Amino acid sequence: MKKKTFSLVLVILIVSFTVFIVQLFITVSSNKSNQYTAYVKPENALPILTTEDGVTKVNGHVLVNEQYSLPETYNPGESKHARRQLNKLLAQAEKEEIDLKYRSGFRSYEEQQKLIKQAIKQDGRQKAYDYTAKPGHSEHQTGLAFDVGTDAPLSNFKKEFGHSKEGRWLAKHAKQYGFIIRYPKGEEDWTGYEYEPWHLRYVGDSLAHTIHEEQTSLEKYYNLK
Ligand SMILES: [Zn+2]
Repeated sequence: MKKKTFSLVLVILIVSFTVFIVQLFITVSSNKSNQYTAYVKPENALPILTTEDGVTKVNGHVLVNEQYSLPETYNPGESKHARRQLNKLLAQAEKEEIDLKYRSGFRSYEEQQKLIKQAIKQDGRQKAYDYTAKPGHSEHQTGLAFDVGTDAPLSNFKKEFGHSKEGRWLAKHAKQYGFIIRYPKGEEDWTGYEYEPWHLRYVGDSLAHTIHEEQTSLEKYYNLK
């Protein structure tokens, strides 16, 4: 190898190595930062995922499921606006002689922790995790989720609620108040949850109407899997 060629190769190697180190540094430092934006391939809507202080949002909507969790410190309490909308929904139901009642709402990380401990004690670990979300993975921690039911306690938190007069009314009218049935039937592979006709999630008017009309779920609509 000629001396000139050798120097050229050496220079190229040094430059490549420097570029590699700089890129490595950029990657490491951007991973450290807890604020980043990732774009996901669109299907039905262009989903823009953002994460800030451990809270992931899809197009501005807090995202909680098996994959995305909330940090222990995220403790927003019940959303006043969402609760007002729920109260309007329940009032309208009452007007139409539909027996719909508030059953549960905001739960902090600690409360979810207590709930799962209680469930494990009662039913064993495996069964408990089947029906109770792990702390940080419950949508109730967002303050935007509510469970509703009827005055007949035995029918509450059961799939059959979906077939009842109340369940059908809820599925039809939830969108008018900005709510979706968060875990619909047939969407289990997308949501990671069994059908829960009683669990409402406030997402606002526009998204609630779209998800209802397209008979889809939050995850499927944004192609999140
Ligand atoms: Zn719920």
